[in-house]
Amino acid sequence: MNLVAHPAQSMDMDRLIHDFNLCYGCGLCGEVCPRGAITIDASRAADGALHKHPVLDETHCVHCGRCSSVCGSGAISQEKFEGLVQQMSEARQEHLVFFCRKLNLSQPSPMQGEALGLNTPLTAVRMMPQLSRVRLPQGVRLVDVRCTGRIGARTLLSLLLAGVKGVLIFACPPHDCEYGRESCLSALHVEGLNSLLDAYGMGERRVEILFEQPESPAHVEAVVERFRHGRLRLTR
Ligand code: SF4
Ligand code: SF4
Repeated sequence: MNLVAHPAQSMDMDRLIHDFNLCYGCGLCGEVCPRGAITIDASRAADGALHKHPVLDETHCVHCGRCSSVCGSGAISQEKFEGLVQQMSEARQEHLVFFCRKLNLSQPSPMQGEALGLNTPLTAVRMMPQLSRVRLPQGVRLVDVRCTGRIGARTLLSLLLAGVKGVLIFACPPHDCEYGRESCLSALHVEGLNSLLDAYGMGERRVEILFEQPESPAHVEAVVERFRHGRLRLTR
C-alpha cells in the first residue's frame, strides 16, 4: 500500500455564518448555548401560528460552535466545514479523519521530558501524537479541528452525501475538553447519524468517534486502517 506523510490540514473554525432566513425555529441553538448568547424570541403571526426566532448577542459568544452543530437548517453554519465538504467531493477523497487540536499539543514525550529534566511522573506526560508524522493511504484526509464538538450531524451527513465513505473522529476525553464536554455532544451526533444510516440501509457505522489520546503516529495509522476496513468495533 502506498502510504504518504500526511500533514494535517489545520482548520481554525472560528467563523460561524448566520443566515436566520433559513431558520425553522426549533430553538435547539438556544438550548445548547453554554453562555446564553442565544435567546429564543417567540411571536405570533396574524394566523395565530407561533414563530420562534433566535436572537444572538455576539458579546457573549465564545465561538464554541455548539449552536452550529445542532442547527439542522443551515441557519448557523461554519464556513470552513462547508468548504471541506466541497473539497472532499472534488478530490474524491474517501475517508476523513478529524483530530481534536488538543490531542496534538506539542507536549514532550516521556523521553523528551526526561531529557529536559522535567520533574513530572512519566505516566503523567502525554505522548505527542505528532500528526505531521502520520502516514496514511491516498484518499484519506486528516483535519485538525479546534474542537470536535463542532462537528454536527448535518456536516457529517453532507460529507457522506458528497461521496465520503467514512469519517473517523479522534476526540479528547470529555473531562479534558476545554469547551465543557463538547466531545460528548459530537458522540450524540455520531450515534444518531449511524442509527439513521443503518435504518435506511446506507451502511453501518460509517462514522466513528474515539475518546482517547493516541500514543504515537503509528497508533493513529493503525486505528485509521482498522476503520477503513470496517474492523474498528468500539465498545460502549
Ligand atoms: S458559538 Fe457557542 S457561545 Fe456562541 S452562540 Fe453558538 S453556542 Fe453560544
Ligand atoms: S438551531 Fe437553527 S433552525 Fe433551530 S432555532 Fe436555531 S438557528 Fe433556527
